[in-house]
Amino acid sequence: MVFYGFQKTTLIDYPGAFASLVFTGGCNFRCPYCYNPELVNTHTIPQYGSKEIIEHLKKQKGKIEALCISGGEPLLYRERLINFIDEVKSLDIKIKLDTNGSQPQWLKKANVDYIAMDIKTSREKYSQVFMQNENVEEMLAKISESIDYIMTYGKDYEFRTTVVPGLITESDIEDIAKNFIPGAKKYYLNQFRPQITLDESFGNLQPYSDDTLQKMANICKNYNIDCHIRAGYSTEGTQHKF
Ligand code: SF4
Repeated sequence: MVFYGFQKTTLIDYPGAFASLVFTGGCNFRCPYCYNPELVNTHTIPQYGSKEIIEHLKKQKGKIEALCISGGEPLLYRERLINFIDEVKSLDIKIKLDTNGSQPQWLKKANVDYIAMDIKTSREKYSQVFMQNENVEEMLAKISESIDYIMTYGKDYEFRTTVVPGLITESDIEDIAKNFIPGAKKYYLNQFRPQITLDESFGNLQPYSDDTLQKMANICKNYNIDCHIRAGYSTEGTQHKF
């Protein structure tokens, strides 16, 4: 298995653990605000083999406590990713997996300790992040299946939404809270940061004010969701430097 980004140490990607971070290439979504267009569109960036990652983790045994796997969409690598995860787990290292929720059949096979799943927007607007040939109802069903699994699998998780002006309004947040994740034990509203984006026109959008984000967080609390505002960081929000 090949990775398209490798950060040897990070203190902010796995809650409470000293971790390494890898990025897979390729994604089946096309979120216009995506901060890592190089990962989504092209593979002409440095590659790191899984052996190299495993060797690093072995050498740093006792120091590195966790590995974060982000993308792109890591679960598109199916068995290769599941096998890699099993190899890392055999080193007694915890794993956090980032996913867009589109691959529940592989998510259920992934022996991970923490899942971070993006909720992109309301059901009505979700097609704005899908590929054009996507069957919207089928994909929404997969996303709901992933959410149900994550909320019952018995380990740590977070849901998160990048609050992109236009793609996310207060009524979209209400829809997410009511219909996707009522009762979720952790949900982050990530502030949108204008920068390099997959659709360049999104790079100039003015982020919502803190007050607006707080109103959105309060809406979520009405649905028994432990909701927090993240000022400008999540792995999804990390612009990777290749
Ligand atoms: S934001 Fe995530 S799910 Fe969306 S296109 Fe980028 S990598 Fe894919």
